[in-house]
Order: sequence, then C-alpha cells, then structure tokens
Amino acid sequence: MKNLVILGAGYGGVTLAHELLDHKIPADTQIILVDRMPFQGLKTEYYALAAGTASDLELRVKFPTHAKMTTRYGDVTGINLEDKVISFEDGEPLNYDQMVIALGCTDNFHGVPGAAEYTSTIQSFTATRDTYLKINNLPPQATVNIVGGGLSGIEIAAEIRESREDLNVRILDRGERLLSSSPPRLSKYVEEWFREHNVEVRNHINISRVEGHCVYNGESERISADVTVWTAGIRPVPLIDELNVNQDNSGRVILDELYRIPGRPEVFVCGDCASLPFAASAQAAEAQAEQIANVIVAGWKGEQPKVQPLKLKGTLGALGKKSGFGTGFGFGGKSSVTGKVPRLLKSGVLWMSKHHFG
Ligand SMILES: Cc1cc2nc3c(=O)[nH]c(=O)nc-3n(C[C@H](O)[C@H](O)[C@H](O)COP(=O)(O)OP(=O)(O)OC[C@H]3O[C@@H](n4cnc5c(N)ncnc54)[C@H](O)[C@@H]3O)c2cc1C
Repeated sequence: MKNLVILGAGYGGVTLAHELLDHKIPADTQIILVDRMPFQGLKTEYYALAAGTASDLELRVKFPTHAKMTTRYGDVTGINLEDKVISFEDGEPLNYDQMVIALGCTDNFHGVPGAAEYTSTIQSFTATRDTYLKINNLPPQATVNIVGGGLSGIEIAAEIRESREDLNVRILDRGERLLSSSPPRLSKYVEEWFREHNVEVRNHINISRVEGHCVYNGESERISADVTVWTAGIRPVPLIDELNVNQDNSGRVILDELYRIPGRPEVFVCGDCASLPFAASAQAAEAQAEQIANVIVAGWKGEQPKVQPLKLKGTLGALGKKSGFGTGFGFGGKSSVTGKVPRLLKSGVLWMSKHHFG
C-alpha cells in the first residue's frame, strides 16, 4: 500500500484532504492525515479564544472521514527526506511515498531577548489557551500590551477590549500607522475605533528586550504590563529549518511550479510553510491546497499535472463582534470598507470555513 501522508490538519491540510476524497482514490493508495490535535483548530479565530469571547469548542472542526483515509494523532519531531520517514515524539515512525507538509507557522521573535520566554502567543491552540488564562485571570485595571499592529494584533486588542472593559489595553507598533500595508483610510478607521474604545496605540516602538512585566522601547524606555501578547511576525514551524532545503527571507520553502520541493517530486509544501507570492493566510493555504490536489489527482490518472494561478480575494478583519474592515474585494470600486458589513462578511466566511464550503 502507498502512503500519501498529509502533515498538518489545518486550513491547508484539511482542504487538501477534502479535495482528494472527492476523487476516486487508487486501490493501492491510502491517505494518512497527521496532526497533534484530534480536530482542526480554526486559527483565524484564536484571538477570540484568547480574549474569552469564543469557546474552545466553537473553534474545533471535525476531520473528514473516509474508508481510504486514517488519521494519526501525534507530535511530529522529524522529517527525513532521504529515507522518506516521519518521526514522532511517541510511537512508530511513519513511511511515506508522497507527502504534503502543511504544518503552519509559529511566532517570529526577531531575536529580541526575552520575547520567547516572557510573551504570550496565539499561534497554536495550546498556547492560545494559556494566553486566555493569563488575560482572563488578571485583576481589574491590569495592563495588556499587544506587540504588533497587524491584523492579529488589532483583532486581539479589540476583542480583549470587548471582553474586559476593566483592563488597560495597549498596542505597541513599529510603524507609523496600524495595518501599515493597508490603505491609510483603513488605518485611520481602526485607530479611531481604538481611540473611541479606550485602547492606547503607540507607534514607532522598537522593542529591544522583554522582561517579566515589561518591554523596552529602544534602550531606555521601560513600558510595563501584566501580560504581553506577541503578534509581531511569523515564520514556518522549526521543523522546516531542519529540512535543509532552500528557503525565502521569511523561512518559507521555495518550491517548483507544482508546489513540490525541487528535486523531490514526492514532497509538496502547502500554506504558511510554502513560499508563495502572498503573505501567509488561511485563504492562500486553501487555494494552494486545491491546486496541490489537482497535481496529485492528475498523477493518479496518469495525466499531465498543471496548476492554475492562485487567486485570492481580499482580507477581512474584526474589531470586536460589531465592527470590522475589509480590503481588496473591489467593493463597489472602493479599496476598503469599514463597519458592520465587513464584520458580517467575516462571520459568514467563518461559517463557510467550518462547514467546508470553500
Ligand atoms: C489571530 C489570527 C487571525 C488570522 N486571521 C486570518 C484571516 O482573517 N484570514 C486569513 O486568510 N488568514 C488569517 N490568519 C492566518 C491563518 O490562520 C494561517 O495563515 C493559516 O492557518 C495557515 O494554514 P496552514 O494550513 O498553513 O496552517 P495551520 O492552519 O496553522 O495548520 C497547521 C497544522 O499543523 C499542526 N502541527 C504543527 N506542528 C505540528 C507538529 N510538530 N506535529 C503535529 N502537528 C503539527 C497544527 O496543530 C495545525 O493543525 C490569521 C492568523 C491568526 C493567528
């Protein structure tokens, strides 16, 4: 029996599994879906779990089931591309004939001393649960620092504000404005929302060091906090660095035109681990997974594999449960929209994601 192993059952891995299971799987092939969690975690909503506005259960999605697919629960500790073997913290190693690596990303601490030790994160389900406890056990008037004013930082800051009116919430951002890669109109809207909701925004902050209850801006300014949440950048999970393959500046694996590791046609890389011409996103992971499925299915049928260019829609962000923003959808010719409509759209996208409607 040939093992087609999908490593990581997040947005990319689960989409790929669904796509493959829609086709006739060859009699000599079985699919093995591997994850350290017994369900898919909806990472795009981890900010709400951390703030306490969404429950653990709401962010879990069951894996697909099929006679030709098994799931393997476990923590992957190594990938040997030469011998085609995956090793686990516990249990037997797993051989593969074909493999898709879709293990997602972790925080990028940019070498800032103390950041890994003293900040809380929302990059994994387990870490987000810890962050939830830290934030929600705080006494009134305690302070939460959010490092990073991109999408995740903004969403968690707004959500904490809605969850805990009694806390001081502060965003520390390196740039001149929040959401620096979005249209200035959008940054203005978001900054105004934070002003109205009593969230402090500080720009031009250069975090040089983190300690137990503070961060340092440059060498001299000490900014205190009871909890500091890090949302200032991501990079692929550390297993990727151990593969000894070509990576881009963000650590993502450089791939051939069919999303395979060059020289290893049996290994695909999907989602946040893959070097794509976009920032990492669930949307990109799902779109890429569909194309990888096309390549694998073409192989099953003995056809020439080809992929379509990845087309992404825009980005939607939440400012609590009632307001939000969107860019890149071409909303009536506008580059961005704000308010209730994009927030409703975001809830709709989440619903579709939970029910695998693309
Ligand atoms: C707060 C927040 C908000 C976001 N909002 C958006 C948004 O609005 N729109 C959008 O498109 N994107 C958004 N993103 C980004 C999006 O969540 C990721 O880009 C997406 O999850 C990437 O999909 P993936 O399949 O590559 O990885 P993931 O979905 O992270 O899946 C990786 C899987 O691998 C498993 N895994 C990792 N390491 C191991 C191991 N060693 N052993 C076993 N299993 C392992 C994990 O458990 C996980 O299930 C957001 C991210 C965050 C944190």
